[in-house]
Amino acid sequence: MGIRQITRTEWGEEHDSCFHPGCAARYRYTMETHEILGGADRAFTSQHPFYWIRLCRPHHAAISSRPSPGMLIAELAWKKLHDEEWYDPERVIRLWRSKCTDEYVKELLEAIETEYQRIK
Ligand SMILES: [Zn+2]
Repeated sequence: MGIRQITRTEWGEEHDSCFHPGCAARYRYTMETHEILGGADRAFTSQHPFYWIRLCRPHHAAISSRPSPGMLIAELAWKKLHDEEWYDPERVIRLWRSKCTDEYVKELLEAIETEYQRIK
């Protein structure tokens, strides 16, 4: 996982459809690469594909760069569905809440799996 070097532009070109479930946007809208964790983390997360999802412009505008637990779970489930090569949820969770317990990480990983099974 993650052994291939890839730039943000190259990754964007490889992912031409919106990760939001049920969204048919592909060429209708301009696509955006969204950092699951942005804000103060963006300088770092914009360099690493583990933190990226691809969204159409309307979905991009609707999604915060500081996700709630529920949104983090959803976005990581979309990531698994569309980009398993760069899917490493624990890495994302531990940046999101650097002091969270292993038990909380496990709980989130289970919730991501449940959401993934629901949307796949
Ligand atoms: Zn969309």
